Amino acid sequence: MDEGTAAAAVDGAGPPPPRPHGPRRPLLNRRLAEFGTTIFAEMSALASETGAINLGQGFPDTDGPESVREAAVRAVRDGRGNQYPPGPGVPELRTAIADHQHALYGLQHDPDTEVLVTAGATEAIAAALLALVEPGDEVIALEPYYDSYAACVAMAGGRRVPVTLRPRDGAYHLDLDELRDAVTERTRLILLNSPHNPTGTVLTRAELAAIAELAVERDLLVVTDEVYEHLVFDGEHVPIATFPGMRERTVTISSAGKTFSLTGWKVGWVTGAPALVSAVRSAKQFLTYVSAGPFQYAIAEALRLPRAYFDDLRSQLAARRDLLADGLADVGFEVYRPAGTYFVTTDISPLGASDGFAFCRELPRRCGVVAIPNAVFYDHREEGARFIRFAFCKREPVLREAVSRLKLLRSG
Ligand code: PMP
Ligand code: GLN
Repeated sequence: MDEGTAAAAVDGAGPPPPRPHGPRRPLLNRRLAEFGTTIFAEMSALASETGAINLGQGFPDTDGPESVREAAVRAVRDGRGNQYPPGPGVPELRTAIADHQHALYGLQHDPDTEVLVTAGATEAIAAALLALVEPGDEVIALEPYYDSYAACVAMAGGRRVPVTLRPRDGAYHLDLDELRDAVTERTRLILLNSPHNPTGTVLTRAELAAIAELAVERDLLVVTDEVYEHLVFDGEHVPIATFPGMRERTVTISSAGKTFSLTGWKVGWVTGAPALVSAVRSAKQFLTYVSAGPFQYAIAEALRLPRAYFDDLRSQLAARRDLLADGLADVGFEVYRPAGTYFVTTDISPLGASDGFAFCRELPRRCGVVAIPNAVFYDHREEGARFIRFAFCKREPVLREAVSRLKLLRSG
């Protein structure tokens, strides 16, 4: 991209007029020029401006368990974590993460060498890509993909190679042949996300086994974003690290944000073989060094909540999924009912629309509801143009009100 194009991508209005004393080169570098403001920030701002119900950015409208919030207050009062915690994370949390992986998935990790605490999954993704990707390496990601993936691949100097999930029979599916065909001599890693944002797809055991075989055969690394691991309604969550040959080549990422409805705390983590975790730590130490001291102690307690907590979370969200998915279908959207996550993707074409961007920009003023256009998650924007995403991590009366407002769409 030349400088003029880069500048146009930033402000949308061509190269800036020359100013006598200001910098003449575009400020944002070429790697980031295409990214602008995240769609989540844009749509949340639109929600505040219009007072619309925000089913765009995925954050719950009730805070996580009181006992966990109290644990954070106690940690602050008791002076635990108010100063820099250890670089890899506080031992209590690293041990709790290792125990969680073992209890749920049978994965054994040494808390000292195979667990790293990060500033949310976002930092874990950034650190993993910055650590593992050489400039020019190809990174395969399942499209539509979470927006930070593209930006982090770009920051690492990599080249993103999308493999598109396509809707069929009411759900999104991965084409394994397409994935195999996407691998080249330059492919360094596959960036997986299951349960998948925004489609709600949960990769099956058979699909994961095939991806694992491919990774071993072609000597690829896998970075797997499993932040919705506890939000699976149909099927099961299986970490790809559990498949033969994968322990040594998988960086597994998760976070407390969704599991404990505490997205603002930004406590995430990485688990994997020592060499991988150490590589990710090399990048992480220069990004934030450490974060969220007192919250780390609280999340250590959260991970030890009884099984009933996780079951309740899942069943509450399953009911909300049904409420919103049925409501949206009733309004006239074609609905792809998610097997996991707290998002539902819909097709707007039955409502006579085809441009999800325009639709989402108008929706707050038209109906008082905010949604996200899935096109932002695509390199092949035309593939995503008709789809928009609604979040259902909101109280039931809020979801009901949103559906009732959306019924205005039926009257044109
Ligand atoms: N990965 C996916 C797929 C997400 O949807 C999100 C956003 N919530 C994140 C990563 C970021 O997680 P965190 O808030 O822990 O940084
Ligand atoms: N993961 C959240 C979503 O997909 C957004 C997080 C963010 O704003 N970066 O809605």
